[in-house]
Amino acid sequence: MTDLTDLTIVDALSKLREKQISPVELTQAYIQNLSNNHKYNAYITLVADQALQQAYLSEQNYINKKNRPLEGIPLGIKDLFCTKGIRTTACSHILDNFIPQYESTVTQNLLNDGALFLGKLNMDEFAMGGSNETSYYGPVVNPWSKDKPLVAGGSSGGSAAAVAAKMCAAATATDTGGSIREPSAFCGVTGIKPTYGRCSRYGIIAFASSLDQAGPICKNVADCAILLNSMAGYDPKDSTSSKRDVPDFSSFIGQDIKGLKIGIPEEYRPVGLNSEVASCWDKAIQILKYCGAEIVHINLPHTKYALPTYYVIAPAEASSNLARYDGVRYGLREDGNSLDELYINTRTAGFGAEVKRRILIGTYVLSAGYYDAYYLKAQKVRRLIKNDFDNAFQNCDIILTPTSPVEPFAIGDTRMLENPINMYLNDVFTVSVNLAGLPAMSLPIGLSQNGLPLGMQLIGRAFDEGTIFKTAYQLERGANFVRI
Ligand code: GLN
Repeated sequence: MTDLTDLTIVDALSKLREKQISPVELTQAYIQNLSNNHKYNAYITLVADQALQQAYLSEQNYINKKNRPLEGIPLGIKDLFCTKGIRTTACSHILDNFIPQYESTVTQNLLNDGALFLGKLNMDEFAMGGSNETSYYGPVVNPWSKDKPLVAGGSSGGSAAAVAAKMCAAATATDTGGSIREPSAFCGVTGIKPTYGRCSRYGIIAFASSLDQAGPICKNVADCAILLNSMAGYDPKDSTSSKRDVPDFSSFIGQDIKGLKIGIPEEYRPVGLNSEVASCWDKAIQILKYCGAEIVHINLPHTKYALPTYYVIAPAEASSNLARYDGVRYGLREDGNSLDELYINTRTAGFGAEVKRRILIGTYVLSAGYYDAYYLKAQKVRRLIKNDFDNAFQNCDIILTPTSPVEPFAIGDTRMLENPINMYLNDVFTVSVNLAGLPAMSLPIGLSQNGLPLGMQLIGRAFDEGTIFKTAYQLERGANFVRI
């Protein structure tokens, strides 16, 4: 018998409906798999008993023909989503033993559609990082690692690794500057960051509120469409969530892309771009041409300012969002002789080095005297970056770029850890998308000479995830990437 954890969500749902498999069998198979794979450190909290109980209910729903769109599908949830009654830490010591009283809208939508949760997934502390090494619970190991342990990418490293190693059917994730796409690329799986406003941010622990978006990480493109159908939608509890209708993303799967104009931005191919990444990009271009798409060359002239802009705006918002962790209301408390001392002791013990660095940068760029020079200027450049995309989309329908300039690197790589700027540079192809609020997907296209996955990114117009889905599906078919 085939391993049930190999099934995509699309296949699992059809087998569940035809009663060839049961939700309990499917859930047990994933629980078995994740208990055999603790070495990846992908989960930090397991709720297997609860998952099985829900699977029994799902079984009844199939029998009584009351099955919902995701009935009995076992998911992993990034530990940034508040889950009622289940410990939620953002992988920070400061949220030790925080048990939310409420459910995030995105996870509630998934529960309403019949999905069940296996547990909470590891991530960079407060989603700040690109390698999952800032987690209080230690790094996630990339399932593609060979002789030495490699990073799974970040911040959603647990989500990407859990999907790659078949420890859940799919996972939720969030993306502020690339945290869905980069780990997806590193682990050879598929993830989409939808348009800003597509998914509610209610109940997702905030990092940088004008950039954060939730999205799915899945085994393939069609599964991403099914999951996003459930996650997306207007929510009165989030004033930035969009009232636009959510189309059926699955309806774009299989549509042809003849005549579609694919933009290739010159600025994303600097001299010195990793040659394997460049040839993988060329391969993707060839596949899309073969499918009848037209390749057009475009310019995004402000690309070189995207990283500095992001690394001013994101820490500024983070420093404000993280002010609420003071030892009084949530999680960890380290006592002191005065209120100030309690704050200082709690924040000193509770936050890791990267989070402290971001709070300091953010406080600095927002302070009187520096606000105009850094924060205001960054906001102006953000608008120019957005205008670049608006102009580019006059001449093309979708943009194709690499997801990351590098392949997965070793855990503990001193180049990255000793100089945080080197880590930030890995975000060069992803942050512009968040600054402009656009949707973008990463999907695996090929392997490097070291046998490690390389991902490509498709960027769409705002609220045009549909074009991403139809293009990505054709690209996926052409690339014929074999999951681990
Ligand atoms: N790597 C980026 C950062 O450290 C992006 C993180 C994210 O998208 N959450 O900020």
